[in-house]
This record gives sequence, structure tokens and C-alpha cells, in this order.
Amino acid sequence: MSTGKKGLQVIRVDPERIEDEQLLPAAKALRHGQLVAFPTETVYGLGANANDPAAVARIFAVKGRPPDNPLIVHLADPDQLSSVARDIPPLALRLLDAFAPGPLTLVLPRAATVPDIVTAGLDTVAVRFPAHPVARRLLQLARVPVAAPSANRSGLPSPTRAWHVLEDLGDRIAFLIDGGPCQYGLESTVLDLSTGRPVILRPGSITAADIAAVAGLPVPTEPTADDADAPRSPGMKYRHYAPRARVLVFQPPASPGEREALAGQILTWTGRGKRAGLFACRASLDGLGTDCIRLDDPAKAVTPLPPGTCVSLAYGPVPDPVAASRRLFDGLRLLDHLACDIIFAEGLPEDGVGLAYMNRLRKASSPAAPVLFVCAGNTCRSPMAAALYNLLREPSAAPGVSAGLAAYPGEPASDGARIALQQDYQISLASHRARRLTDDLMDEAGHILTMTGLQKEALQAARPDLADRIQTLGEAAGRPEADIPDPFDGSILHYQQTAAKLEQLIRAFLEKGG
Ligand code: AMP
Ligand code: MG
Repeated sequence: MSTGKKGLQVIRVDPERIEDEQLLPAAKALRHGQLVAFPTETVYGLGANANDPAAVARIFAVKGRPPDNPLIVHLADPDQLSSVARDIPPLALRLLDAFAPGPLTLVLPRAATVPDIVTAGLDTVAVRFPAHPVARRLLQLARVPVAAPSANRSGLPSPTRAWHVLEDLGDRIAFLIDGGPCQYGLESTVLDLSTGRPVILRPGSITAADIAAVAGLPVPTEPTADDADAPRSPGMKYRHYAPRARVLVFQPPASPGEREALAGQILTWTGRGKRAGLFACRASLDGLGTDCIRLDDPAKAVTPLPPGTCVSLAYGPVPDPVAASRRLFDGLRLLDHLACDIIFAEGLPEDGVGLAYMNRLRKASSPAAPVLFVCAGNTCRSPMAAALYNLLREPSAAPGVSAGLAAYPGEPASDGARIALQQDYQISLASHRARRLTDDLMDEAGHILTMTGLQKEALQAARPDLADRIQTLGEAAGRPEADIPDPFDGSILHYQQTAAKLEQLIRAFLEKGG
């Protein structure tokens, strides 16, 4: 046993040779209301005694998890199911026979004894019987049901190795049991059995076909299947499973032309001094022919990478959703640690486990936070800037949006702005309507770009917490002296000159990496 940050105890356990004395202090702490992170076959869980509402409340607090996102209750043995669920349908028992212990979570009507905070007030409860020998033994020794979400900060990739937990929660929990890397690397399949019509709410390593084979009927996957940390506020949707780096999904190139295009895309990033990370199978990486540092042995990685470098992490020899899933979250975290600006991750066919892999990868690669252009009225300069930015950016880049400090909501773009963009760029601003700048818009934005220095100062004074995201467009373009004065009521020529100046600055901003 070793003591880590602030009294955290890290316990290393060999899953093949578990000694109860190693786990007993953690089991006891768990029973008495402390938080214990432990390995499961899916991801590392952050456990609390499910019968202790105050302990469960701490899970939400340390993760920063929205309180309306329910937790999964973990039990050692299917015999204990009726302690947390009621009206258990025969199908549940058949599925447990087939898949428990294992990476399958069942949603069932909830027993009255389960505290509200565990289920976020729902009248159903999610239950799972983990197969990992360390998790099982811990649950047996704790002798209480354990509510446990993934042991990460909400919004970051789920933890599949002990260091992932340490990095996110090391200063906030009592125990971390290190049982090595997780076997599956993706969270459990969540199956709703509470309505008489089984539905997969979250795809996982036990597939729809696996379940259908036991159920004897097709089991659909909810189209909006979502996971823990479901977006509750618009800003959060950008940070689901997401590393700091942007993540682009690429399909394994099927032709030399596609290979060249992808290699070219990577070069565009590294050529601008950015660090690119690749997550793919060895066969795809070799096919690319891009000059990359191989990260096959992460221990050899240099942190951070020199600018303009490309690193590759091979999850396995050939395309394989099981192997890719096992390494996905680890790969994202590792590449983030190397300060990658962009991660190119291999997409795989969406069937079987591939569906679960792509479900997580898509969330990790949600669009980047928008670039918000700000002027006074949101009828001339900022709508022109946003439209020009959207014209000039790469399709996969963050979208451009606009708002005004003193806008009259609903006002259309000015005639001059509409005519200038139509004539010189064939862009229509016909559907633009002015809107006021709000805190929500600013919270969501990755860059907040004003037209003048005065506007920037006003915004920075209003939102000092966002000061480092607020710049003038000129500053963001490397030309700090370039203010864009209001062309309002000027001649069409005046608007055209304004548009041309905006174009120049936006091109410079994009060249600097956006
Ligand atoms: P995590 O513990 O982070 O793996 O997340 C637990 C997942 O189970 C989330 O997707 C929850 O929304 C889902 N879940 C937990 N309890 C319920 C429930 N009673 N009904 C539906 N989904 C649930
Ligand atoms: Mg989670």
C-alpha cells in the first residue's frame, strides 16, 4: 500500500492473486461512507455505499456530475438483485444467467430501499454485477450495494487505467485500487427492462445480437442512446469523453488517393507547428506512410512533444473494434498528455462492438467550441465576419457564430452588409437575425473575437473569468493594431472594404491555427 496525494491510499492488487487483507481497509472505508475507486472489466468505477445518501452525494460532487444523471448499483451476486429491484421479469434472470457477472447493466423497477439520489429520483434502478475479480471481492467484503459511475471527472474520457483516475480524482478520494488495465475499456451495455419492451440505452461490449440471442427477439438500440454525463447544458456537449485536443474521425483509407488525402491533412497540421496524434491499427498507420513517432511503448513518450511532430498509437495489428475499444480512452488521454492539438482516430464499421466504439468516439469528437464574433448591433460587422469565417474555414473546423453587445434582437443584417457579401463572396445574409450577446454564448465559445479594442475591454471587464478567450479579431490574426470600425450607414464601397479587411484578418487567424 502506498499513500499518494492528500492521504489517498493507492493499493496495487494482482487480479490473479488477490489477498483479502489488501482489500479489507478499502472495503471497510466504502461501507462507512468513503469513496473508493476500483477496477472493473469495463472501466474504473468510483464507488460509494449505495445505502448512504451522503456518500453518494460526494460522488456527484467530486466528479462534477449533473445530479439528474443516475448511477449504476453494483452487486457481488445476482442473488442480491431483489435487494435493489422489484418486479423482476423472467428475461432479466435469463440474461443474468447468460451474462452475469459481466459488462451488462439492467434497468429495472426500483426497490423502495434505494435512496433517491442513486437513481436521480427515477422509479427505476440500474444494476450490474462486475466480473473483474478485484471488483467482485471488494463488493463481497464491503457487504453493501455500491453505487458507482466511471471514476473520471465528468466530461473527460472514462478511466481504463489507475493513472487516469489518479490524474482526475487523486486529490478527492480515499482509496484507489490499482488492478491494471481494464479488459473492455468501454462502459457496460445498459439495457432497459423496465417497460416490457427491452431497449439498449447505451451500446457496449455485450452487443444487441448477444442480447437478442438470449431474449429470442430483436432488441433495438435507442437512437438517442446516451451515456453518463449526458449533456445537461449546451456548453457541456463539447466536452463529452473529450480530451483537450480536437478529435477527428477518419475512415481507413480504401485507395491510394484517400491515403494521400489523409496524409496531406495530417501534414497541414504539423506543417503549422501543431502536434498531431494518430490512433489507429498498425496496418492503417503503416499504409499512411506519414513520418510519425511510434507510441507503442508509452513509457518512452516525451512530454510534451516538440511542435510540428506527429505521434502514432497503434491499438492492434489490424482493424478490430474490440482492441480499439480497449485502448480508446487510454489513447485519448495519452495523446492529450503529449500536448497533441489534434487527434486523428480511426473509424470502424458500426456493427457489433463497433457500434459501442463509434458511439464513444463520436462523443469524443463532438464539434469544437464555436468561434464567436462580437460587434455592437450584430447587423454588420459580426455577421459578415462569421459568414466569411464559415466560408474560409475547413468543414471540420469549429463553426463561426455572431452576437452584438447592444443588438436589437431579430433585426436583419444591414443592406450594406448583405449587398457586399452577396456581390463579392456570393454569401447570403438574408436569414440572419441579430441577437444579443449572452453569458451562455460566451461560455460555449472557444474564441470570442471583438471588432474593436474597446469592445474587448468591455467584455473582459464583464467576464474576467473568460479573459484569455476574449481578443480583438486583429489580435487573433497577429495584427493587434487592426480595429474594424462600424461601417453602419456608409456607402456600399465602405461595406465592401470592411468585408475585404475582415477576410484578410480571418485568413490570418485561420493560418495561425484558428
Ligand atoms: P456511468 O455510471 O458513468 O457508466 O453511467 C451510468 C449510466 O447508466 C448512465 O448512462 C445513466 O444514464 C444510466 N442509468 C443509470 N440508472 C438508470 C436508470 N434508472 N434508467 C436509465 N438509465 C440509467
Ligand atoms: Mg461515465
